[in-house]
Amino acid sequence: AAPLARAESLIRSIPDYPEPGIVFRDITPLLADAAALGEVIDALIAPFAGRFDVVAGIEARGFLLAGAIATRAEVGLVPIRKAGKLPRPAASVSYALEYATATIEAHDDLPEGARVLLADDVLATGGTLVAGHQIVRSLGGEVVGSAVLLEIAALGGRAATGDVHAVFTV
Ligand code: 5GP
Repeated sequence: AAPLARAESLIRSIPDYPEPGIVFRDITPLLADAAALGEVIDALIAPFAGRFDVVAGIEARGFLLAGAIATRAEVGLVPIRKAGKLPRPAASVSYALEYATATIEAHDDLPEGARVLLADDVLATGGTLVAGHQIVRSLGGEVVGSAVLLEIAALGGRAATGDVHAVFTV
């Protein structure tokens, strides 16, 4: 666990971002470190190794992890994007944020019955990953789990999602 402890120390806490009272967890110092990045990608994959055919990364920071997971695990990647970015969205799911709603979309590029690993950087309330589940299911895929770098436990997202593997927890 020592190498992962070093990786964890590279997640930076930014007080009062994006709003007063919020502590933003910034993963960019970890991404910038080759050894830490390799270790966390392996840790994200480990519980699901050999059990998924596709990784679905959630815009935007989920893309950074999903690309690395895909090449390391030798699987394909399907991006789950914010509304309006994909030319031919086949699935669209809206979900509640604190003061607004968000919509995510995906193309129908999943092989029928594909086993899908969802990937994102941070689990907070779980709303994003729950919507990710709905997108994958509406495309005919099976979600084998959700892999996140960091879980913010106090926000309760684990209960909402049900299948989260978090490399780090605060
Ligand atoms: P949720 O839907 O679980 O409430 O929020 C998770 C989503 O918001 C993820 O896509 C994640 O990227 C983003 N997010 C929420 N809080 C943070 C944070 O402190 N740091 C980072 N990097 N992303 C966050």
